[in-house]
Amino acid sequence: MNTEISANLEGFASLGITGALLKATEAAGFDMPKPIQAQAIPAQLAGRDILGVAQTGSGKTAAFSLPILARISALGTKRLPRTARALILAPTRELAVQIEETIRVLAKGMHISTALVLGGVSRNSQVKRMAPGVDILIATPGRLTDLVREGEVKLGETRWLVLDEADRMLDMGFINDVKRIAKATHADRQTALFSATMPAEIEQLARGILKDPVHVEVAPQGTTAAEIKQSVVLARLKQKRKVLSTMLADPAMSSVMVFARTKHGADRVVRDLERDGFKAAVIHGNKSQNARQKALNGFRDGSMRILVATDIAARGIDVPGISHVINFDLPDEAESYVHRIGRTGRNGASGTAITLCDPNENAKLRSVERIIRMKLPVLADHLGEPDPQPEPRSHEPREDRDAARPREHHRAGRPGGDKQRQGKKPFSGKPGGKRFGGQGERFGGQGDQQRFAGNPTGEGRPAGQPNGEKRFAGKKRPFRGRRNAPRAA
Ligand code: AMP
Repeated sequence: MNTEISANLEGFASLGITGALLKATEAAGFDMPKPIQAQAIPAQLAGRDILGVAQTGSGKTAAFSLPILARISALGTKRLPRTARALILAPTRELAVQIEETIRVLAKGMHISTALVLGGVSRNSQVKRMAPGVDILIATPGRLTDLVREGEVKLGETRWLVLDEADRMLDMGFINDVKRIAKATHADRQTALFSATMPAEIEQLARGILKDPVHVEVAPQGTTAAEIKQSVVLARLKQKRKVLSTMLADPAMSSVMVFARTKHGADRVVRDLERDGFKAAVIHGNKSQNARQKALNGFRDGSMRILVATDIAARGIDVPGISHVINFDLPDEAESYVHRIGRTGRNGASGTAITLCDPNENAKLRSVERIIRMKLPVLADHLGEPDPQPEPRSHEPREDRDAARPREHHRAGRPGGDKQRQGKKPFSGKPGGKRFGGQGERFGGQGDQQRFAGNPTGEGRPAGQPNGEKRFAGKKRPFRGRRNAPRAA
């Protein structure tokens, strides 16, 4: 105890964290600040904006949350209805949930209220939660855009803004929503933008919304944690199932994340594993939020040894103690490889990442090797072996067809379906709507909800999909872009 306190006095206290917050970091087991925290916390406490290049696992959540908590807890003012003092935008629901969990742990003993505004779950409870106003709102951009437009959330009082995993929000088509949301917050706000990579669009976004930011960076782009042992297994697609099952028979694989490129691919891996006697949970964008959370909880508490996931669904997930990451397929984007394998080897623990590579995926493998600046050693080569005998799978294509059918049914018959379902079909109604208001004006300060609601024109969004929610089924809701519907998740 004493040593922990003294470590904290040298550590978080030296960064300017005091009182209940200091105690909470200690209770959370944060003895010493991580590099991103040591760099970003004092600057934010001094009121500076932050541009951070950091991946999940770096400790960035506490790096942006602690200063916000410190500043908000010092405020004497009352919260106004439907407002949020601080807003944290995250690309996926899972990441948002995780951020809220971390904030709750760090805000222990403080009177700080939080709310989650996410797609894919009922909006009514979110509206209710926002009604009296909250200290910290954690949101995905799509649903937040809806609630701002409807006047259920007002951003004019938001003086702290965090964009977490900005590159992923860009990938998911949220960039215009993010820009508009940022503009709707208080003009005199403090902003932090974190991104694992810094493509030109993110640099441009940062220039637009950050004021003279302090740059913090914990690992050069594209590098992977040194603690992760990486290798490749050469196997044809037809061989991969057997290769995976053989690997999973090793009890050293105590907690395994298996990545598949597509939602159907992930489902197929789970079915094949079940046929081979392995139980596995799965998360991807066609699963309900509850199912995803249940799968994640089972994996996190150790009751489920194997979690199969797509890239975007798994993005930002922080489960300690993952022993192995297996890439059943190579990802389409080489950067995703870095994110995938970053699930293991956390907090200095060792981890193993094994990638199954079909000859058709060689080009993708080369891209990965370029980005990580190393050649992956070959752990095993099955290419000279015959393919395993195919098992009769008479019902499988039907399952695939059935998987698609409920989506059609829901789309036609049940308004308010989740965004993954809606994301499937091009919108055949009135395209070109702009969900935010006016003639391209700024959405800053008070009265933003009026501007969000005005005259849609479709600025800056790809041809979208209809919103399943009844009240927006008609003209009022002319346009949906890619929202909380991840591309591949
Ligand atoms: P993040 O990058 O925010 O997802 O954090 C990754 C993990 O590091 C989480 O499990 C945190 O609880 C943990 N963590 C964050 N800061 C510290 C710290 N100073 N000491 C130990 N663990 C930490």
